[in-house]
Order: sequence, then C-alpha cells, then structure tokens
Amino acid sequence: MNLLKKIQFVLNVNCRQASQLLSDKSERPLAGYERAALRFHLFVCGPCRKYALFLLILRDVMMRISAEPNDAVHLSHESRSRIKATLEAHS
Ligand SMILES: [Zn+2]
Repeated sequence: MNLLKKIQFVLNVNCRQASQLLSDKSERPLAGYERAALRFHLFVCGPCRKYALFLLILRDVMMRISAEPNDAVHLSHESRSRIKATLEAHS
C-alpha cells in the first residue's frame, strides 16, 4: 500500500474496519498505518471507544479466570454426594 493509500485509510477507516483492527490487534501486531487508523478512529468515535474498552475488560476478565487455580471451582459436598448417588442408582 503506498503512502497516499495509507493516509486515506487512516482518515477514512469506518466502524467495521476499526472493530476488525481491534480484533486483529489481539492476534497479530498491527502495521503502523493500521495502529494510526485505529487510534484516529477511536479518538473520533465514541461507540468504538466503548467497544474497545469492553474488549479490554473482557480480556482482563478472561485472563483472571484462566489464571485461577483449577481447584477454585469445585462442587459442594452435597452436590458430589447427590451426583454419586445418582450414578450409583443408574449403574
Ligand atoms: Zn466507530
């Protein structure tokens, strides 16, 4: 993409393209003109700024969940007893 096309892209990126860039950003490093386009679009577009913030929060929550030890989620003694009794009744 030549310089003029990159400048046009930065100035004319729409919401759909911005959301695609936000998605791409988590999977690959963005090119300089893509980062500039995303930054410029987020500067002028409130809904996309909110969407970007939502993605950041979602990513943080997902990282926190995956960082929790596996034994953080467990069944209560009553639930385990009930499941065991049901399995024994059907075996
Ligand atoms: Zn937008």
